[in-house]
Amino acid sequence: MQILHDSDADLGILNGKTVAVIGYGAQGRAQALCMRDSGLNVIIGVRPGKSFDAAVQDGFKVVSVSEAAALGDIIHLLLPDENHGPVYKEEIADKLKAGDVLSCSHGFNFVFKEIIPPKDVDVIMIAPKSPGTEERKRFVEGFGVPGLIAVKQDYSGKAWDIALALAKAEGLTRAGVLKCTMEQETYEDLFGEQNVLCGGMVDLMKYGFETLIEAGYPPEMAYFECIHEAKLIVDLIYEGGIQKMNAVISNTAEWGEYYNGPFILPPDVKERMKESLKRIENGTFAREWLAEARSGAKTLKAKREAPGQHPAEIVGAETRKMFEKK
Ligand code: NDP
Ligand code: MG
Repeated sequence: MQILHDSDADLGILNGKTVAVIGYGAQGRAQALCMRDSGLNVIIGVRPGKSFDAAVQDGFKVVSVSEAAALGDIIHLLLPDENHGPVYKEEIADKLKAGDVLSCSHGFNFVFKEIIPPKDVDVIMIAPKSPGTEERKRFVEGFGVPGLIAVKQDYSGKAWDIALALAKAEGLTRAGVLKCTMEQETYEDLFGEQNVLCGGMVDLMKYGFETLIEAGYPPEMAYFECIHEAKLIVDLIYEGGIQKMNAVISNTAEWGEYYNGPFILPPDVKERMKESLKRIENGTFAREWLAEARSGAKTLKAKREAPGQHPAEIVGAETRKMFEKK
């Protein structure tokens, strides 16, 4: 894959354009501040409330979503994914002009057809591969986080150049940007968070912790072993790959990895991962998640409470206090 940097992108294509950032949460705030610092004309469209006040406080022109959609040449959608469909239909669709650009940071709603854009606009994605706080911090430090860009509809014939310019304005081309399709980004993102990063990792930690305390080991020690130390291992892999991690841990730990890894996660786990990928690609996951979100998210809210009662979280809160500077 080709990695694109600052010299591949030209901000000039955005001259005289207004970027309407819709939503001012984790991503909206970080991306809007970076684009403004890069000299772009950025306005914010959001409903009244905490985000609205924060954007005013940060010195932006802040208007309703429909007004921002009418004023913007580039309408950059940064609402929670489950809200984009209804907000687009009610407040944005009839404000679009021919030649506008509809943009997002996660392809979910275009890929799963919650948003069906008109034929005479560009549809693009600029996805920082990072939480908003980290994106802003690295930008202020003079660098950036990596990102993905995609074009779903190229009405103007310049959609890639516009996506690259926006990525440059957010500092992403300082680190490097990859071109992909919205389908690739959407499916891979959902797959990663469901199978490895969030689902997957959390369950692995909990099973390890539970096994030790059910066998009578002290919970504080179980927390250190199965949860706390995960960060140290992941940091090593982040820095230098699995081989670096293996070089730093003891020979005993390394041998244990080869000896027990395939026993605890046998290769047939991949069969279930393939099923999960199929559910994502054929839209089953999206349909079920949107039905849950739009019927009051009762199951989500119940699940959100449950980890707080898990002994790993109670012991964890106590154990983490030991690391606070007194
Ligand atoms: P947040 O939940 O942090 O922010 C959402 C914003 O949308 C808030 O400002 C919220 O305002 C506003 N909002 C919600 N509903 C409405 C509505 N009906 N009308 C008007 N404004 C509304 O979301 P994120 O920043 O995390 O995510 C935004 C997008 O970025 C998503 O597409 C996500 O997939 C993508 N993304 C997220 C990443 C991340 O790390 N978080 C990384 C890369 C992409 P209020 O305060 O009023 O609720
Ligand atoms: Mg992700």
